[in-house]
Amino acid sequence: MAQFQRPTLCCCRKVLTVPSKSCEGGQGLGQCRLVDIASASNFHCFKLRHFHLDLRLNFAVKEITGWQVLELVAIQPGVQTLVLDTHPSLLIQSIDCKVPGTTGAQDISPSLVYRVDPFTDYGSSLNISLPAYVIRPHRAFQITVRYTTTDGPAIWWLDAELTCGQTRPLVFTQGHSVCNRSFFPCFDTPAVKSTYTATVRVPEGVTVLMSASRSAYSKQDRVFQFSMEYPVPAYLVALVAGDLQHVDIGPRSRVWAEPCVLTCAVSKLGGSVERWLNVAEDLFGPYVWGRYDIVFLPPSFPIVAMENPCLTFIISSILESREFLLIDVIHEIAHGWFGNAVTNATWEEMWLSEGLATYAQRRITTEAYGEAFTCLETVFRLDALHRQMRLLGDNNPVSKLQVKFEPGINPSSLMNLFTYEKGFCFVSYLSQLCGNVKRFDSFLRAYIEQFKFSSVVAQDLLDFFLCFFPELKESCVAQREGLEFERWLNACGPPLCEPDLSAGGVLTGPVQSLCDLWASEPPDPEAIANFNLSSWSTFQTVLFLDRLLDRSPLSHEVMGQLSRCYSAQLDEMNAEVRIRWLQIVVRNSFYPDLPRIRGFLHKHTSRMYTVPLYEDLCSGVMKCFAAEVFYQTQARLHPNLRRTLQQILFQTSALSTPTGSVPSLLHPTPSSPSPTPRDQLGPADPPTTGTIALRDVNVSA
Ligand SMILES: [Zn+2]
Repeated sequence: MAQFQRPTLCCCRKVLTVPSKSCEGGQGLGQCRLVDIASASNFHCFKLRHFHLDLRLNFAVKEITGWQVLELVAIQPGVQTLVLDTHPSLLIQSIDCKVPGTTGAQDISPSLVYRVDPFTDYGSSLNISLPAYVIRPHRAFQITVRYTTTDGPAIWWLDAELTCGQTRPLVFTQGHSVCNRSFFPCFDTPAVKSTYTATVRVPEGVTVLMSASRSAYSKQDRVFQFSMEYPVPAYLVALVAGDLQHVDIGPRSRVWAEPCVLTCAVSKLGGSVERWLNVAEDLFGPYVWGRYDIVFLPPSFPIVAMENPCLTFIISSILESREFLLIDVIHEIAHGWFGNAVTNATWEEMWLSEGLATYAQRRITTEAYGEAFTCLETVFRLDALHRQMRLLGDNNPVSKLQVKFEPGINPSSLMNLFTYEKGFCFVSYLSQLCGNVKRFDSFLRAYIEQFKFSSVVAQDLLDFFLCFFPELKESCVAQREGLEFERWLNACGPPLCEPDLSAGGVLTGPVQSLCDLWASEPPDPEAIANFNLSSWSTFQTVLFLDRLLDRSPLSHEVMGQLSRCYSAQLDEMNAEVRIRWLQIVVRNSFYPDLPRIRGFLHKHTSRMYTVPLYEDLCSGVMKCFAAEVFYQTQARLHPNLRRTLQQILFQTSALSTPTGSVPSLLHPTPSSPSPTPRDQLGPADPPTTGTIALRDVNVSA
């Protein structure tokens, strides 16, 4: 996925250490500490076989009402309480229980006794007392929860004005990492997977899509039915409903979007998706989910993209930046194998999803677009990793691949570049160890075959790796000095080694040469004129601008020269390029280009393009200008984003220092910021910027 979320710090909870399904009996590296779920003490007492959602969407009052049926089997004797994760925004009306196959009084019990307790600021604990006859080991029973949910962290209601077409409202959900407990009560951990079905009733003219392998629609009843026939964790259940239409773009793929976006979306993706799926299947084995559809969402979608199975959610703002669109879609396709089919059992090891998906994405782009293109994209992302490293310092615990959460910490705060890029470097290192990238591809195919539809810990991956390559096990590669697997997982700081990216030199070389020319004093205009940015790819241009940004502050003379050389030209380019130039403008307080910032912020209303610019404006001397633009544009911003920007504008002045102390957890990065859990953030929330807002990182995906 492409999301970074701000940390939330709150009350202490008891640390619970329980084995996940696949690490049962395992030791050492793979211990799970599930401090993020209320159901941690309980979920392994039950097997969740399946659940069904029966929901009615009411746009007028922004409410989802209905019921959920959980099909469970008790697998441990003596358990009298079922604990599920839920959220204060979800109001429970009643809970009852049924034991299929029994008759009479035991068939349908009276309403069960339940209690909702506070847990953390991102969820509550739903404790359901089970009647004695239900909890016989290995016998199935059904729990039905009737409930209403409104606008919790998972559910985003958009008024018509916030959609692309501006004619009809839209709602979407976003479950990663622990938001779906506000959508339906669940074991909100990636360690638990089950199949699900859903029935969704909507007003006329509304189309519903879900992350499901099958769907059907009854026009007469205005009812959509969905079935996900493969087991998925709670966070991968997703829904979107609005004025959506589709075009088929391949034998198993269609693009969904609002009518005004559809033609553009189809033209940008065309026949590429099937080609990428074919390349991925050649590398990693069959695509197991059946369909691969994509839905483009309005700019209010809080992240860049989300790998919901069978149906990638992606922000429509990315459409104008072709190379980013390509990378983001390929990344989400890669999650079909890494993250969705095989899932990290705990959020403390999110790299098992993101690091492997990033590696797989780059294998796909290497096959489809060549090594130079892939190396360029990697260089630009590793640049960002090192930028993040400089901001955080070498000893920050979030730079570990196996992060240890403190109780009460929202797991979404782990979304950072280490998860992606340090994880990628470790996977690349494993690939190097086996001496041949194709041999490593076959290992990954076997890994997927072995663990698909289950959740794993790092130990599972590494044990399987050493079994697959016995010669490596014999030569003790896991203990190689300085590159011990344990050290990769548990040491702070940069990757222990990085892959050879020299194949990208043909593309990165000119970028570095131009950067060097601008760094010389004074810059030589004739030499600079030999480089033509319009002949460069987007990734080359963003690498150039990122490196200029790293060298800021620049002298006023150099800024003037840069502006004369590039400003008008960059105006014609895509938003990913333009925001980087505008950040240079802001950080160097270059007033002549201020109107360009105004124009950009009037056009772009997504979090990925507004938050970094506002953060820069407010930590410099342009706060009044930022406030003015905010008041002019706020009506077109999602209320959550409006609140985030208000925080930046009005709460950060005393906190912003250029090189402040190191925080314990990460703030969002610019192009991949997070949804603000709006029902959790109040006036006393942590500021969005401050000592270490990662506006310097400049990455998406
Ligand atoms: Zn991802």
